[in-house]
Amino acid sequence: SITDRLTGLFNRGKLDQALALELSRSDRNARPLSVILMDLDLFKQINDEFGHSVGDDVLQKVADILRQVGRDIDIVGRWGGEEFMLICTDTTLEGAIALAERLRAMVASYVFPEVGHKTASMGVSSYRVGDNSRSLLVRADNALYRAKDAGRNQVQSEESAP
Ligand code: GH3
Ligand code: MG
Ligand code: MG
Repeated sequence: SITDRLTGLFNRGKLDQALALELSRSDRNARPLSVILMDLDLFKQINDEFGHSVGDDVLQKVADILRQVGRDIDIVGRWGGEEFMLICTDTTLEGAIALAERLRAMVASYVFPEVGHKTASMGVSSYRVGDNSRSLLVRADNALYRAKDAGRNQVQSEESAP
């Protein structure tokens, strides 16, 4: 199976496979490639306050937003739990940051039934010569961590690393 049951997005296995493929393509063709890691903010509160099934509903709505924002050339999946990944082919770091910002604004302005407003934090990284999946994702994950640390509901990128 390549899809996540709850959201219908690609699952982690498919994301892993797609990222490896796109990395080798970018390497061969010298084309840009960027990834966006998105983690929902304070998601545990939803489960605690409204119950797990309301939490599931929010994840499905977020998946709808992701499908809307992800263009044809973006590969969109659920990385696990309340974390999602966009693999942006032929997209520079600047382009992916702009896409992530659009996504952040859409999530933040959406009114989730019962729950109201929720936000998401994002980390963005872009392919560099010599990267493998792991090194690329470590930079996105570090950026995501900085977004959380700086107060959530924001996009950080490898470029903003100190
Ligand atoms: P942070 O802003 O730091 O990310 O806070 P958080 O509460 O989102 O982070 P934390 O990792 O503490 O909690 C994530 C929660 O997501 C805990 C877990 O129960 C919930 N979760 C993970 N997968 C699912 C799911 O499939 N359905 C539901 N309803 N909840 C899920
Ligand atoms: Mg998380
Ligand atoms: Mg979270």
